[in-house]
Amino acid sequence: MVALAYLVSAICFVLSLGGLASPSSARRGNTLGIAGMAVAVVATVYLAFSTGSASKESLTAAAISLIAGGAIGAVLAKRVAMTAMPELVAILHSFVGIAAAFVGIAGFLAHPPGELDGARIVHLIECYLGVIIGSLTFTGSLVAFGKLKELIKSKALVFPMRHGLNLALALGTVAVGAWFVTGQGAIALYVGAALFGVLGVLLVMGIGGADMPVVVSMLNSYSGWAASATGFLLGNDLLIIVGALVGSSGAILSYIMCKAMNRSFVSVILGGFGAEVGGPDDRAEAFAAKGVNRAGPADVAELMLGARSVIMVPGYGMAVAQAQHNVRELTELLQKKGINVRFAIHPVAGRLPGHMNVLLAEANVPYPIVFEMDEINSEMPDTDVVLVLGANDIVNPDALENPKSPLAGMPVLEVWRAQTVVAIKRSLNPGFAGIDNPLYYKDNTLMLFGDARKMVEALVSAVKGGGGH
Ligand code: NDP
Repeated sequence: MVALAYLVSAICFVLSLGGLASPSSARRGNTLGIAGMAVAVVATVYLAFSTGSASKESLTAAAISLIAGGAIGAVLAKRVAMTAMPELVAILHSFVGIAAAFVGIAGFLAHPPGELDGARIVHLIECYLGVIIGSLTFTGSLVAFGKLKELIKSKALVFPMRHGLNLALALGTVAVGAWFVTGQGAIALYVGAALFGVLGVLLVMGIGGADMPVVVSMLNSYSGWAASATGFLLGNDLLIIVGALVGSSGAILSYIMCKAMNRSFVSVILGGFGAEVGGPDDRAEAFAAKGVNRAGPADVAELMLGARSVIMVPGYGMAVAQAQHNVRELTELLQKKGINVRFAIHPVAGRLPGHMNVLLAEANVPYPIVFEMDEINSEMPDTDVVLVLGANDIVNPDALENPKSPLAGMPVLEVWRAQTVVAIKRSLNPGFAGIDNPLYYKDNTLMLFGDARKMVEALVSAVKGGGGH
């Protein structure tokens, strides 16, 4: 019965991942995931009851934890703002990490040291892997949480010899692992966990703001492998399968994000690569002297009404302002006037992979007018107006033009090639990567300063009024 339930649950998880591949089927994917998890929990509790493998006390403790944890999770998920989703995901990864580490420690303590035969060695290695991967996932995710919540600076922490130190920590953890397996002492297990935990902090601290998407998906992957290691330790097939699904899908997503950002997977994993080229921007004074071209909503409405084609580029600011519904209204108004309106989506726009697609889907923006960066970049020169909606790093020309920039080499939406660019944001403050954006100082860029939602509302009124002053 339990084996069958686990099979059903595993199939639900596979179908769930398939569903999550597109915004149109994502709800179905989520429902299947919930169903799979419900079956898994019931079957696991039944297994513990029917085999008598858990005492009455531990089952009561598990039930209380399940209800309390479930309630806290439900309240958090209900309350979380869409913009705070990445932090929530990062902190949830840290829970998986610490849980895996605790299970590893418990698995070791439950079996007193004994004769070092093959089975015992495998058991000790399982414990050690669970504990160290769990520890790295825990500390790395906490730092990612801090960076995404902007409690910690998003710029890469760069110091001399950091790669040497990281390597020493990794090799040290392997050596301590050998000490643990041969000596079977708990101290070695804790030392290994501490070394890998410090490595987790250094790796994520060493990664610059723009590379954070890869880190988030990588930590997602690590949390899966940590769960899988726990599955081996507990002899639970479903946990092994689910861990492997999460681990491999997270790894594939990291690879896709790396490719989209033209980064090498290894250099991002090792952290801080390419960060040396940053440094203070010596063009700041020239930018300040040149100033920006400001525009009001009426000017921009007039400009758009005179256009044949408009491309909207949503970014994190649109998510913060929750302007997607107003953007859809503006789109419909322009379309009614016969203007060709399309959306350009950068793979790392916002703070979550697929962030913009989800927001646009929520606002019922039709999928056929939403284009990926690769599909639409070549259309920029033939576009009259590009409206940048609270996006910054993903439209920074430095990525292509300034080899010293931390963004160098990352493909961006080449909005400056359009006839006119209108950037809506509240100030000239930088985006997540913390660097200046020369786009705002270009001759064909107009700045519409203000909250994205208020400005789009103003544009809607102005377009309804026919534009003009
Ligand atoms: P950015 O973070 O580069 O820029 C967002 C801009 O929005 C800011 O410059 C800000 O300027 C503006 N803004 C904020 N609030 C508002 C508001 N209420 N109204 C109008 N504007 C607002 O966002 P992008 O989407 O361009 O780029 C995403 C960045 O995040 C990239 O560096 C990416 O690597 C990183 N990242 C992406 C993840 C992902 O998976 N997608 C995960 C983690 C990081 P101002 O304050 O002046 O208004």
